[in-house]
Amino acid sequence: MTDKKNKTPKCSLCDKPRSDKYRPFCSKHCADLDLNRWLTGQYAIPVEEEEPDDFDRAISQANALSNEENDPKKLN
Ligand SMILES: [Zn+2]
Repeated sequence: MTDKKNKTPKCSLCDKPRSDKYRPFCSKHCADLDLNRWLTGQYAIPVEEEEPDDFDRAISQANALSNEENDPKKLN
């Protein structure tokens, strides 16, 4: 085991030699990219959608409209 080659560690995202400042990445760019990916992965969990306050009202309005349209008296 002679001639030990000190391999330069590579950036986790690309194959450029990593920088001490931004390890395990080569640059702030790659560090940001990875952080972003991590964060978006964390926040990609679907959140429960809140029903709008007037959801029920909108539904009954739609029902009233379709009832009017299907009213046999109006059709004739
Ligand atoms: Zn990189």
